[in-house]
Amino acid sequence: MSGAAKVTNVDRVYVNNLWQTIDGSSLKLLDPATELLSGELVVSPPEVISDAVSAAQRAFNGNWKDVPKSERLRVLRQLLASMRDRQEDFAQCISREIGTPIDFARKGQVAAAFAHLEATISALEAADEDAPLSDNTSHRIRYEPVGVAALITPWNWPLNQAVLKLGAALAAGCSMVLKPSEWSTRTALLLAEAVEAADLPAGVFNLIIGDERAGQALVADPRIDIVSFTGSTSVGKEIAGVAAQRMARTTLELGGKSPNILFGDCDLPLAIRQGAAHCFRNAGQSCNAASRMLVERGIYDEAVTLAAAAARETGIGRPDKSGSHIGPLVNAHQYNRVLGLIRQGQDEGARCVAGGPGRPEGFKAGYYVQPTVFADVTPGMALFREEIFGPVLTMTPFDTEEEAILLANDTDLGLAGYVQTADPVRADRVARALRVGMVQVNGNSREGGAPFGGVRQSGWGREAGIWGIRSFQEIKSISGVHQF
Ligand code: NAD
Repeated sequence: MSGAAKVTNVDRVYVNNLWQTIDGSSLKLLDPATELLSGELVVSPPEVISDAVSAAQRAFNGNWKDVPKSERLRVLRQLLASMRDRQEDFAQCISREIGTPIDFARKGQVAAAFAHLEATISALEAADEDAPLSDNTSHRIRYEPVGVAALITPWNWPLNQAVLKLGAALAAGCSMVLKPSEWSTRTALLLAEAVEAADLPAGVFNLIIGDERAGQALVADPRIDIVSFTGSTSVGKEIAGVAAQRMARTTLELGGKSPNILFGDCDLPLAIRQGAAHCFRNAGQSCNAASRMLVERGIYDEAVTLAAAAARETGIGRPDKSGSHIGPLVNAHQYNRVLGLIRQGQDEGARCVAGGPGRPEGFKAGYYVQPTVFADVTPGMALFREEIFGPVLTMTPFDTEEEAILLANDTDLGLAGYVQTADPVRADRVARALRVGMVQVNGNSREGGAPFGGVRQSGWGREAGIWGIRSFQEIKSISGVHQF
């Protein structure tokens, strides 16, 4: 087992370009791999949150909102450089904090954040900010920053999710207050140090810390013009309700239960290998995990056998160990929730063909869950409907393309969809029929700068690339005057 974690408290905020130590109500943080205390997190008191919003508002109204694109690009490039200087620190911190195995922390978590920041910079370079609508150059469309942004992020891709928001908000010309998840605040503190090194005007970026109490206070502040939230659907609904009272803008990136449709003509061993890996990576804690496999009946039995084997071959190991294994879940709450859903699946009569609720062999502590596969899952079961957020794959057979589409869309969520077939015409037809925000065919990943987000109860708005920047901007139409 890994050695005892160093106990360090998390009690700093960054407001108006100054670090400040805070005290007050706190919560215990445990190392996900050992369940030993790693420190306590202090919740930002209301006056600190208010100060952070004041600082952001002053910065916005000062002159940040009018800072030209060239200056915002300079800041973003400087941020990228200062983040690169801390690249390994980020990976180590994410690995310790949320239990991600170190190689995936480097090549998955941290790499994704850099790729998104680079794509944001490219998108801003190419973006029109004030351009004629037609040949009549006195009829213009301007993109202007929305104002003071609240950025609220979850823990599962902690650097990437914060950077997607922070990069886009800076690119758009907003000032901001970031409230990271209570389970990944150390990563956000490192990010704030990188922002400090990027030399932004005071108050443009502020970091407060804490759990839902801090998030609620931030969202309720009437000076917040836009809330960009990534997290659970239930919290997203609450935030949307509060923001709607004052018509503050919201961008909501919420949960998923993404179907992966395997047709009889696909490369089955490859589709299973990729599909299982996509479901299990990050210990299943990805909003776009391909967690609901729908398989054409002719290949169903073989697919179940292969998926069970893929689950058994998926290694489980310590976060600090090099390799392609998966690590523990983030905390006791997630652990108990996932095990509860596995037990419910068994009670509801789904066929567990790999894994199950017991601890993986050789682990006496830590929030480790066995990669688990359930076959014969039907739409009435919780396993089919609920976002599990653990390494649990469900399998359901279908007979026709129409039935596959009906099953895929039989959910309130609509984040991602995956299609495996050798027939490109069918792939396109099915991709268009899926009620989701993103479709990947035959294992092809999204390109850098592609929009990320969902439909229905997976939220609204898009992050990444130009779409991420636009979500922090208002559109103004000006008629009758040229740009001076
Ligand atoms: P969560 O909703 O519990 O918390 C997310 C953030 O919101 C945290 O910072 C938390 O402190 C804060 N928060 C909680 N209650 C709040 C409230 N009432 N008001 C304001 N802030 C509040 O989610 P989580 O457990 O941290 O993350 C897991 C969820 O995030 C999953 O459902 C997952 O699918 C979703 N997620 C979605 C995407 C996406 O892009 N669609 C990406 C990653 C994660």
